[in-house]
Amino acid sequence: MYAVSRQDELGVLRIVLEEQYERHTTQLALLARQASQLPGADPAAAAALTAASRRALGDIARALHYLEQDGYGSCERCARDIPIEQLAHRPSTRFCTACRPPRGG
Ligand SMILES: [Zn+2]
Repeated sequence: MYAVSRQDELGVLRIVLEEQYERHTTQLALLARQASQLPGADPAAAAALTAASRRALGDIARALHYLEQDGYGSCERCARDIPIEQLAHRPSTRFCTACRPPRGG
């Protein structure tokens, strides 16, 4: 039985993030074109979507930057590997589920 190495998992995560980055970049380009071609479109909605995509791009870029660093994906408290699903959901996660501080604090 094969054990998928942590390195492989992080490699997959990188591909996922790069795909997301591309998707948001495409969305931004589409939004920019729509804004110029459809004067009747709701500018507030388009602006909100644009802002959301820009924010997502920033998050993804930061996550890809984290991925470059040694020790990425390990819990800062117990040093165990953080589950890849958790990293995919929130790449800036620094704690495993057990060590994560409660929300809102
Ligand atoms: Zn932990």
